[in-house]
Amino acid sequence: MEFNDKSIENIISKVVKALENTSGFNYSGGVFETPEEAVEKAFDAQKELSKCTMSQKDNFIKSIRKKISLEENILKMSKMAVEETGMGNITDKILKNKLAITKTPGIEDLTTGAISGDYGLTLINLSPFGVICAITPTTNPTETIISNAIGMIAAGNSVVFCPHPRGVKSAKFVIGLIGEALEEVNAPKNLIVTINRPSIEATNTIINSEKIKMIVATGGPGIVKSVLSSGKKAIGAGAGNPPVVVDETADIEKAAQDIIKGCSFDNNVPCIAEKEVIAVDSITDYLMFNMKKNGAYELTDNAKIEELKEKVTKENGMPKPEYVGKSAKTLLNLIGIEVDDSVKVIIMERDKNHTFVKEELMMPILPIVRAKDCDEAIDIAVEVENGNRHTAIMHSKNIDKLTKMAKLIQTTIFVKNGPSYAGIGVGGEGFSTFTIAGPTGEGLTSARSFARTRRCVLVEGFNIR
Ligand code: NAD
Repeated sequence: MEFNDKSIENIISKVVKALENTSGFNYSGGVFETPEEAVEKAFDAQKELSKCTMSQKDNFIKSIRKKISLEENILKMSKMAVEETGMGNITDKILKNKLAITKTPGIEDLTTGAISGDYGLTLINLSPFGVICAITPTTNPTETIISNAIGMIAAGNSVVFCPHPRGVKSAKFVIGLIGEALEEVNAPKNLIVTINRPSIEATNTIINSEKIKMIVATGGPGIVKSVLSSGKKAIGAGAGNPPVVVDETADIEKAAQDIIKGCSFDNNVPCIAEKEVIAVDSITDYLMFNMKKNGAYELTDNAKIEELKEKVTKENGMPKPEYVGKSAKTLLNLIGIEVDDSVKVIIMERDKNHTFVKEELMMPILPIVRAKDCDEAIDIAVEVENGNRHTAIMHSKNIDKLTKMAKLIQTTIFVKNGPSYAGIGVGGEGFSTFTIAGPTGEGLTSARSFARTRRCVLVEGFNIR
């Protein structure tokens, strides 16, 4: 082979591209060939972490926040996630990554409890589990890793991440950045690791390793069930199908705006995003009129609605993965309808038994079900939420009905008079997370969810009252 300037330039660009594909910018650690090696390295790292002070851990988290917050990094990971998974849109991915980096609590979340009395002082401390196996979804491939990494390290753990095979490139990139950030402040090496080629077999090997003391699964029902049968401490953050109830007392114009904003956020991939509306009959027409003013496209032709259903769902009603997180414009194109980018959501009237209502599509397709009154709307919402106990939204000014729905639906997140994302800290009070643990009850997870409660008893001392 002959070498000239052009061929050398070609080789260099191929090598740079290959390096970019496997990790963060300069950092080459954190990615291992075998699950055994990944667990072993994370185990050693956690032993080192347990020797660090709280202020050192605080410093590690600050360094992660600083590195990820750089505009070029946020932009690169957001673009990469959309390109790799084919889901969502770059603008909203940027917002979600920023949210994860700024609003995930750090060590301040680990508050100590104290009981003092005649017998002395007892402290309730939050201690690490050890090495955590964290399984992450395609729908938030970088956000979940950022948020889990901050909370898990703050609580003193190391983490072996098992990303979805369709999000592995983005995962390696963000894990590389976190590794770089940790190295810059002399944190133990390999606190956050992953494997080069994730697979179900590799995840099972990691889950079953004796060195893994906690499993955190963010994903659909399959993986949640699997980790809950592992015999180990597990956190399951599973699927949702968030209904929105709108009654006749609501501010209908604002409700329509909020619903479209929440439903179209990242092309509807968030598990918290509005998936179906149940509206009281007397205001349904006006609600739909206002939705159309805010970027909704109404399908009225039954044949077209069924054609869309055939195109985007499988025979069992589940969504076809290739259409998850696609824009309303792309989905309408499938059935021969051309629209411009101002169309954000596809709406249609359906009854409560339609696939679009019952299944979690994760596409900006929003069926609207009519109910004769608010009580019926609440009953339908409870039914179609399907016992996920994940997220529900209600637009109403009637305190009694808001209370009734909150009590009956039992979701981890219940947003009143706002878009669904207010529930994870966007325009609503509270911290943020991308692991919402309904099935196992931790709720919106943070550092304290990844810690063990331990009691430390000092007998006959420090009762100073
Ligand atoms: P998914 O269930 O297909 O995959 C999630 C993760 O689990 C991936 O890493 C995948 O590789 C792994 N996985 C799946 N089955 C497995 C098995 N049998 N053994 C080992 N690993 C397995 O989900 P997805 O399509 O990536 O994400 C979308 C789903 O996740 C939706 O249902 C959504 O509601 C849910 N989700 C929930 C939350 C939450 O906080 N509750 C957050 C994001 C997504």
